[in-house]
Formats: sequence, C-alpha cells, structure tokens
Amino acid sequence: MSRIPPDHPRYLSLVTRDKVVEGVKIGITDIHGLIAHGRGETFDYLIGEKTTDMAAYAQRAAVAMLLLAKRPVISVNGNTAALVPDELVTLADITRAKLEVNLFHRSEARIHKIIRHLKSRGAGVVLGHKGDARLDLSHGRAIVDKDGIYSADVMLVPLEDGDRCQTLVNMDKKVIAIDLNPLSRTSLSATVSIVDNIIRSIPNMIQFARDMKEVEPYRLQKVVDLYDNRKVLSSAMYEINETLKNEAVRQGIPWNNFP
Ligand code: ATP
Ligand code: MG
Repeated sequence: MSRIPPDHPRYLSLVTRDKVVEGVKIGITDIHGLIAHGRGETFDYLIGEKTTDMAAYAQRAAVAMLLLAKRPVISVNGNTAALVPDELVTLADITRAKLEVNLFHRSEARIHKIIRHLKSRGAGVVLGHKGDARLDLSHGRAIVDKDGIYSADVMLVPLEDGDRCQTLVNMDKKVIAIDLNPLSRTSLSATVSIVDNIIRSIPNMIQFARDMKEVEPYRLQKVVDLYDNRKVLSSAMYEINETLKNEAVRQGIPWNNFP
C-alpha cells in the first residue's frame, strides 16, 4: 500500500481507495472494480460522506429482515472482499447468513482466491464454487450455488448489478442492496436500498444485529412492516439536492443571476 499521511484531509477516502487497489493487486478484485469504486466515491461526496438518518433506518430494517430470514445469504464480490472482509464474516456470523462469492467478471481462480481470503479472516463455509444453479441472466452473476443464493429467501447484495437485483426480486426474494447511487437500477429495484458506503454500512449493521439479536420475532416483523423504501430513496435524492444547493448558495450568487 502507498504511504498516506494521516493528516491528509482525504485520509480515509485514500486509505479506502488503496484497499481496492490492493484487492486488484492480489487478484481478488477485478480491474473494473476500480471504476465501480470511483462511481461510489462520487456519490459519497454528494451525500456528505456520512450515514444519513434514513440510511440508518434502512440498515435497521435490513438487519431485522436478515434476523427473521429462514435462508439468509450475503453475496460477496471483489470490492466488498477487499474493503470489508472481517466485517462481512462478523455480520454473517451474527445473522446466521451464508456467505457466497458471486462475481460479474467470474473466474474460478478469483472465486477460490476470495473464498480463501474470507476463510483467512475467520469465515467457516463460504459458498460460490459449486455454481450448480443458474439465474435468468446472461453474465457471470447468473452462476450461483443451489443451496446458497438460489434458495435464499433474504439476500444482502452489497454493490450489486442492477440486472441481477431485478432478477432476484422477480424470484420473490427480499433483496437488501448497499449502493451509494440512489439512481442505480439496483437501488431502484431492491426491497431495501441502503444508500451508504459499505465501509460504514456493514459496521453499522453489525451493531444493529448485536442490539436486535435477542429481540422477539414479532417486534422484528413490526420493524420490517413499517419500513418504507420509497421514503429512503427519495430522501437520498433530496439529500444530494440539498448538498448541491447549499454549496451553490455558499458561493453567494443568487439563482438565475446568469447571462
Ligand atoms: P446498476 O447496474 O445498478 O444500474 P451501475 O451499472 O451504475 O449500477 P455498477 O458498476 O453495476 O453500477 O456497480 C457499482 C455500484 O456500486 C455503483 O452504483 C456505485 O455507486 C456503488 N458503489 C461503489 N463503491 C461503493 C461503496 N464503497 N459503497 C457503496 N456503494 C458503492
Ligand atoms: Mg451495472
């Protein structure tokens, strides 16, 4: 990793970027993951690089859903494996979810590398190598494990592809997406759309899971029933709008004062 001075104003962002670069170097992240990360950074800037109240509301509902699930699965790709491997293992453990590696740019070598990477961080069984079932899709994300994603009732899909998200929803699964872009097809089609950075979202979800683990199922169900994903999406869009508007106002030029 490159040496980043801790007093650099963009320290956290640069360290995070370095983790994705390192993921590419050690072969767990595809090179396209760098572009996906850049897109995420842009939206993170626009939401103020913080977990908004509405993102926390979505995280809480998502955890309630995972705790209530019969067959919960957390889907892992190259970026999430590079950024939050320990946290994914912890969240899977508390929520009893299976971890399954699922890649857009699928290669057997990379699947095995990510499985080894997660196991080195304490994961037990990690699915994704069998590939004995198919979703109705034309790219690598179609190949899944029968006893994992294929039969899951609730899925957490950090950094999902829009196509597959829609396909999973069409299969009547509850799909929880973590995606900084509230306009992506993923965010627009998920059951729960967490518009937050995975580096903040997964640790928050671990905290919610610890707090809610002993809560009675009917109370968890109430959290899920009262959840409204349209509010979450529109508030993220308003939030971005606000950031831009406030910054424009700060420049001191009145609206419409242009030639
Ligand atoms: P879609 O297929 O859903 O329309 P897309 O094609 O625009 O989305 P992809 O390249 O499929 O985007 O996936 C990257 C997505 O992941 C982007 O929406 C990006 O904002 C998001 N993303 C990237 N890094 C992070 C991160 N660290 N935390 C949360 N979201 C992220
Ligand atoms: Mg996409």
